Amino acid sequence: CGIVAYVGQQEALPIILKGLRRLEYRGYDSAGVALLDKHGLSIYKKKGKVSELEKYLESNGEVKSKIGIGHTRWATHGEPNDVNAHPHYSASEKFAMIHNGIIENYEVLKKDLLQKGYTFDSDTDTEVFVKFIEDIYVNNHCTLEEALRLALHKVVGAYAIVLINKEEPDTLIAARKGSPLVIGVGEEEFFLASDATPIIEYTNKVVYLDDYEIAVIRDGKLQVKTIENVETNPYINQLEMEL
Ligand code: GLU
Repeated sequence: CGIVAYVGQQEALPIILKGLRRLEYRGYDSAGVALLDKHGLSIYKKKGKVSELEKYLESNGEVKSKIGIGHTRWATHGEPNDVNAHPHYSASEKFAMIHNGIIENYEVLKKDLLQKGYTFDSDTDTEVFVKFIEDIYVNNHCTLEEALRLALHKVVGAYAIVLINKEEPDTLIAARKGSPLVIGVGEEEFFLASDATPIIEYTNKVVYLDDYEIAVIRDGKLQVKTIENVETNPYINQLEMEL
């Protein structure tokens, strides 16, 4: 339902939590974040309000990261509980994903992955989606964005997604079709969100990702490509600040 992600020089977690609270008006049943902290790629997620997630994070001690992804879930596949909450790990736990929307052909994809030996912790279409990307990634020995690009040719449904990868600590990869995704362009920092409300207090420069586009934010730069692998020139909108 709600997406907030950050990469830059600031602490990611407070920005993400504040952003998730700004998106609370959309409604949700659980909340979670993935960060690159001292434990590696860590996921913290809880059924209930963002305040429940905050309490849980506090009980885990200091969580510091300059990059992270956050999500508030409105369940479509799988009941609202801690396991079904996002983010979801890939099987190797090398990367994690948040997703708004519905993958309509997830049952077919899941059947295939089960036959290949993948196991599933949750009942979500999202976990199928991230493991489907991973299967392509492993078999093609390609980059994560290339695996995502190939996966998006096979996935039916609606999505706004963001991926975080343990092996690329300065990179976020995002894509959309049918669900909105906004990229805030700051000074050597980037914000991603389902709408501009969590972004506007940091920057008024935003890029609206189009359907069938993949955004790669790496090393302080934004690159946008279509799923046909054609680079596009992202248009930077200047939002009017209402202070
Ligand atoms: N279909 C996904 C799920 O049920 C995402 C729902 C959402 O947009 O929050 O987990």
